Amino acid sequence: MLQINDVTAGYGMIKALKGVFLEARQGEVTCLLGPNGAGKTTLIYTIAGIVRAQTGSIVLNQVNITNFTPQNIVKRGIAVVPENRLVFPLMSVRENLLAGAFSRKEGKNTIVQNDIKQMFSKFPVLNERSEQLAGTLSGGEQQMLAVARALMSKPKILLMDEPSVGLAPLIVAQIFGIILEMKNEGMTIFLVEQNANMALKVADKFYLLEQGEITFEGVPDQIKDADIIQRAYLGNKKK
Ligand code: ATP
Repeated sequence: MLQINDVTAGYGMIKALKGVFLEARQGEVTCLLGPNGAGKTTLIYTIAGIVRAQTGSIVLNQVNITNFTPQNIVKRGIAVVPENRLVFPLMSVRENLLAGAFSRKEGKNTIVQNDIKQMFSKFPVLNERSEQLAGTLSGGEQQMLAVARALMSKPKILLMDEPSVGLAPLIVAQIFGIILEMKNEGMTIFLVEQNANMALKVADKFYLLEQGEITFEGVPDQIKDADIIQRAYLGNKKK
């Protein structure tokens, strides 16, 4: 469904991605693990068209989207749940959801309102707080809102950047429950995580990114190898 072929990207002199290859298959959860600074967020931003790939290609369902604008990439069916949620703090929960639908062609208010209702039944806590300013929600509630806002664009694939970061274990378990639920409903998910133990419970496949390069790929059973876990958290790439 989504193929990343030999992608390099960075910021000025900094090469954050150095020839990354990976694939996220339809209906699966593909997990990207890696220590701080490995380039995980850069990869999400590059797929989303926010950071430009310097070489290589990004292909979604046989369409080369490498040079598409971020807005067209959303229209093509890629939605991002960004690191640290990045909800619009001075807008209500309902307005945040509405903003998630901005790229959709059918501007029909009734359809969008109906989808907001669906989000409220999927995430009851958002219903309870529909008129509350998003910036005043708890971290866990903001994470739910960030997921719901992304779903409002009706994506084919959801890119999730460290959804568990900074959340209490109970909330983390809830978030991973939602990920599993979305997977069971057929959503394709590309999940960036440092919480390898949780991520691998929901992943079909995982990749390890270290210093801008994929250094391991496999199925979750293989992560029982403690060395991979340590590298996912800390990084110890042989130079
Ligand atoms: P973390 O887990 O801490 O979020 P990460 O794996 O997502 O890390 P990135 O945020 O993609 O890593 O960063 C990869 C490299 O690119 C790092 O060396 C970082 O300092 C650098 N980098 C990221 N954003 C910028 C930027 N806007 N300008 C310059 N360098 C950047």
